[in-house]
Amino acid sequence: MTAGPVPGAAPPLLRVSGVRKAFGDHVVLDGLSLDVHAHRVVVLIGASGSGKSTLLRCVNLLEEVDDGTIEVEGRDVTDPRVDADRVRARIGMVFQSYNLFPHLRVLDNVALAPRLVHGASRAEARDRALAMLERVGLAGKARAFPDELSGGQQQRVAIARALVGRPALMLLDEVTSALDPELVGEVLELLADLKEDGVTMVVATHEMGFARHVADEVCFLHAGRVHERGTPEQVLGDPQEPRTQEFLRRFT
Ligand code: ADP
Ligand code: MG
Repeated sequence: MTAGPVPGAAPPLLRVSGVRKAFGDHVVLDGLSLDVHAHRVVVLIGASGSGKSTLLRCVNLLEEVDDGTIEVEGRDVTDPRVDADRVRARIGMVFQSYNLFPHLRVLDNVALAPRLVHGASRAEARDRALAMLERVGLAGKARAFPDELSGGQQQRVAIARALVGRPALMLLDEVTSALDPELVGEVLELLADLKEDGVTMVVATHEMGFARHVADEVCFLHAGRVHERGTPEQVLGDPQEPRTQEFLRRFT
């Protein structure tokens, strides 16, 4: 399944090679490897506790790997000499809990990163934030405070905040899990739009409909590795591995 590099093909934007991560003697990632090419959407599925969040957190350097390497844009970010803030500035991450600053208006929530991380002027940061709010369909809420928005709108603001630094890679961890069912659709539709714009994404989700329609590749995590991978048609429609079949039975 792990085909060698195609001569002349662009190197992957993200390359995870043999990553091991344990908490005490609980091995969560056990030699996991994964490549993500530019403009692709890779969806991670797997049982709760299979390591989806841990993998995303390792990529964003929120966790330190025990072994293996993670390359982002060709640079090994697990090298201890690497500047973690610079790496994170190339990655946008969105979590289940949107974590907006409640005392800041929507516009300022989004403008904060350009100011702090990218050193933009106040005016430039606001321009960029407003453009990004427009992108997620919330320019009209720029002056509102987070608690005046629905959960779906707040999560779209969090996505705008992650995108505003023009990251090379977006990591999305169960971004619809905290939402009321009727608000899930607007967030998934936004992600589908971003894919159309060419945004590279790794998405951990239990939304199989989204995986089916938006993923270029689906990876089923089990026992600390990518147990089965392929197109949505392959992995969701015709899974080959008994573990994958068992997992998917719970969603049908
Ligand atoms: P998933 O996102 O697929 O549900 P996680 O990556 O959150 O899985 O968790 C994988 C396993 O690692 C779980 O058993 C979880 O309890 C454990 N784990 C995650 N983070 C920590 C931590 N900081 N300390 C100890 N155990 C952790
Ligand atoms: Mg998780």
